This record gives sequence, structure tokens and C-alpha cells, in this order.
Amino acid sequence: MKIHDIGGEFALIDRLALQSQINHPDLVAGIGDDAAVIGGSFPDGDYLLVTTDMLVENSHFRRDWATPLQVGIKSVACNVSDIAAMGGTPTFMFVSLALAADTEVGWVESLYKGMAEACRRYGVVLAGGDTTRGEAATISITLLGRVSPENLRLRSHARPGELLCVTGPLGGSAAGLAMLAAGLEPPPFLKEKHLTPVCRLDVSPAIAPVARAMIDISDGLAAEVNHICDQSGTGAEIAVADIPIDPSVRLAARLTGKDPLDFALSGGEDFELLFSISPENKQLLEKKGVQVVAIGWVTEAESNRMLSFPDGKRIPLSGGYNHFS
Ligand code: ADP
Ligand code: MG
Repeated sequence: MKIHDIGGEFALIDRLALQSQINHPDLVAGIGDDAAVIGGSFPDGDYLLVTTDMLVENSHFRRDWATPLQVGIKSVACNVSDIAAMGGTPTFMFVSLALAADTEVGWVESLYKGMAEACRRYGVVLAGGDTTRGEAATISITLLGRVSPENLRLRSHARPGELLCVTGPLGGSAAGLAMLAAGLEPPPFLKEKHLTPVCRLDVSPAIAPVARAMIDISDGLAAEVNHICDQSGTGAEIAVADIPIDPSVRLAARLTGKDPLDFALSGGEDFELLFSISPENKQLLEKKGVQVVAIGWVTEAESNRMLSFPDGKRIPLSGGYNHFS
């Protein structure tokens, strides 16, 4: 049996998690959220957060489309995004590299310049790593963080009646990628979204204390809503008309013959946050000047995750980027 026969990345992770279920009193949350949450680490009761994410050449980046500086920026941002999604603050980073022997030293130095730039932005400190030989350039980053128990936001915390909100426009990264793949020059916004994404650590500290469930949008909106619903035992109703999609994403869809909604639902790598929140707390957030967009709400029936169109049509919410499909 092959990975693509069982349904891809998420099905594989579920199997591995079942096989290696480990309970430990200090493991507050293990496999299944954006980062592992470990107690007993800090005297003030804060939890330690640990996340790891890997970029592989020709699967996650191409040297003819992305400069090493851009790859460095993105490799840090996608890890910080997972810490932000837990409501936490990133701290120390470990970088493991696999590189071919004929890799230009200048390429690796520029990669590290990009990482250093992103580390400065997010307050992250490089604390170690590993370097080995490998054919496809591979950058695997492990990032630590910390969060107070009150601010910890798990995927499992959504409750029926809460709003589902996102922190910004979706589909930009996938639209940028589609333009690059079609040999077109993406407009600056799409280029930034795909090549040098900025994660939402700027707003997560304000959102975390008042939100319930939270996740970052790395695999497309549909997959992330389903992750929250799976873990919270809820359904969801998403209004297509409320999903924020930038005009440049619609333009890219026209130019590449794709559907802009697909970019938002299945594209991935937007690194905005998706969270559930009570309507009262959403108003509180807005009073503080934090801009978020309500795109739907959490519902009772776990089997019911729906996408509703302005004409009243409703279809099951599916899609999401899966690395093995
Ligand atoms: P994200 O998109 O937020 O980075 P992933 O979809 O990569 O999250 O992973 C989901 C969960 O599965 C995380 O808790 C992660 O630690 C865990 N996970 C992913 N791959 C593996 C693996 N090979 N072994 C154990 N746990 C894994
Ligand atoms: Mg994540």
C-alpha cells in the first residue's frame, strides 16, 4: 500500500499517531496541533511549544523562482506561524540542512541572511542545527516558543455558536505560485505572499486571550476548518461571499484559467490565522483596532461542514493541500 492509496499526508500522520501514542503527564498536547505543548518547563508555569517544518527543493521552492534570501525568510515564517497559532511567542530555532556537495557557499550564506532577517522581525534566536549531504536541498527548522496556559489556543477548543474568523486575505500564495508556474510575473502582493510570506505574530498576542480554537492557514482554508472541526467535534458553515480574496488573486485566476475560490480553499501557505471566537469577543478585538474577517460559524453536527454560496446553494467543504495527492 502506498501513501497516496490511504489518502495522503493527513491519513498517514493519523496512522503514525495511533501507532506511537505516548502519554506523559507533561505532554499537554502532542501530535495533532500546530505545535507540541509541554508543561513543567518554566518556573512561572508557562508551557514550552515545539514545532518543526521542512522545505524541500523542487517540492516547496525552486531555485529559478526564489532567491536563497527569500527561501530563508519563508522557512522561518512558516515555523513562527505555527507558534503564533498556539497563542505563543517564538524563542529559539534549530536549523538542519541537507545540501549537495556542489552547492554554492554564497547560496547558503544568502539563505542564512534571509533567516536572520526573519529572526530579527519575530524575535527568534538561532541556537543550533545540523548539516548533512543530500541531493535535494532540504531545510528543516525546529522552533521553540512559550505560552501562558490562559493564552494557549488549541484546535480542539471550538464550540457551536462561535464565529470563525481569519486575519487576512486568502489564496495569495497559491495565486502567485500559479502565475510563476505559467511563466507570468506575479504582481508584488502575490509575489510577497508566495515568496516572502509574513506570518501574523503581529496580531496573535491580541487574538489569543479572547479566541477559542486557533490554527494557521498553511494547507488551505478548507483543510484548516476541517482540522478545527475534527478536533472540536463540531461542524461549520462557511459563507463564500465573506472569504476575503484580493483582486490580484482574481486576476491571477483569470490569467491562469483557475478558480480564485480554489486558491483560497485549497491553495495553502497563506499563513493567516483562522480562529473561533464569541461574537462579543470579536467586538472587543475590533475595539482594540485588530482587523479580522468573519467567514462563518461553528455548528453542532460534526458531520456537517458546509460552504454556502450567495444564491443559497450549499456544498460540503472539501479541499486543502495534501502533499501526497
Ligand atoms: P502544520 O501544517 O501546522 O505544520 P502538520 O499538518 O505538518 O501541521 O502536522 C500536523 C500534526 O502532525 C502536528 O502536530 C505534527 O507535529 C504532527 N506530525 C506531522 N508529521 C509527523 C510525523 N512524521 N511524525 C509524528 N508527528 C507528525
Ligand atoms: Mg500549522
